[in-house]
Amino acid sequence: MSVGTLYICPTPIGNLDDISYRVIKTLKEVDLIAAEDTRHTLKLLNHFEIKNKLVSYHEHNKTTSGPQLIENLLIGQSIALVSDAGMPGISDPGEDLVKLCIEDNIPVVALPGPSAVITALAASGLSTRRFFFEGFLDRQKKVRKERLNQIKNITETIIFYESPHRLKETLKDMELVLGNRHIVIARELTKKYEEYYRGHINDALSYFEAKEVKGEFVLILEGGEEKVIQEIQMSIEEHLIYYMNEGINKKEAIAMVAKERQIPKRDVYDVSLKIKK
Ligand code: SAM
Repeated sequence: MSVGTLYICPTPIGNLDDISYRVIKTLKEVDLIAAEDTRHTLKLLNHFEIKNKLVSYHEHNKTTSGPQLIENLLIGQSIALVSDAGMPGISDPGEDLVKLCIEDNIPVVALPGPSAVITALAASGLSTRRFFFEGFLDRQKKVRKERLNQIKNITETIIFYESPHRLKETLKDMELVLGNRHIVIARELTKKYEEYYRGHINDALSYFEAKEVKGEFVLILEGGEEKVIQEIQMSIEEHLIYYMNEGINKKEAIAMVAKERQIPKRDVYDVSLKIKK
């Protein structure tokens, strides 16, 4: 008996017309549909007149539901995996089920389709040549700031998902840790009130502070300046000279270099003795 296939089926992120023929066909033909929220998915199925068996697979039951779905696949059933919206597995459960399938040599087929990250990036006007997807930052302020600090030297466009009630806090932390960079805030993509806010982080803050923050958001942020990375690739001596040539005094330059390279000031001070300025 051959094993079944797991089909990853992306669903619209707002506009129902964005579903593909192939997704509809697959949802009709599989033996069962594993959905993040069965009630939510039932509405979608009703809209497209799809009648099929629905089971739930979400963050809180995935440890029991996942192995059960694997059993179904192993006895030859095919399964379509859908999340509430967009591409299953991108910042929603799905990743774990795919891993389980691969461990058991069960074929996994991803159907292309809507995802908020790619939709927002494509219209952002920021560099799409290289990008880094961060997804959701942590809810805890301290952890969130630590994470922003870790990614501050990334030079590629950085993309975040964020909920409406944390948007302003996140923008404040971004400005504090990453500086007042250019940002594009994509709201309610593909829906009636779709909006792209383009500007600097502090302008975005004033804009969203003046109104009630509603809807779903993707934040697309310009990457950090190449300069920071180049500095680190310099020797300690070159790094010091770089700042001193910018008019910064030796003592301050030592402190800055030590901080950026995360090395003791004493090491930088020793190197500074070689510089005759
Ligand atoms: N798997 C989904 C995908 O491929 O886009 C993402 C799921 S994640 C749980 C939900 C988050 O995606 C939202 O909080 C929001 O940040 C973003 N999102 C989803 N739909 C969106 C939309 N229509 N407009 C803007 N952001 C959206």
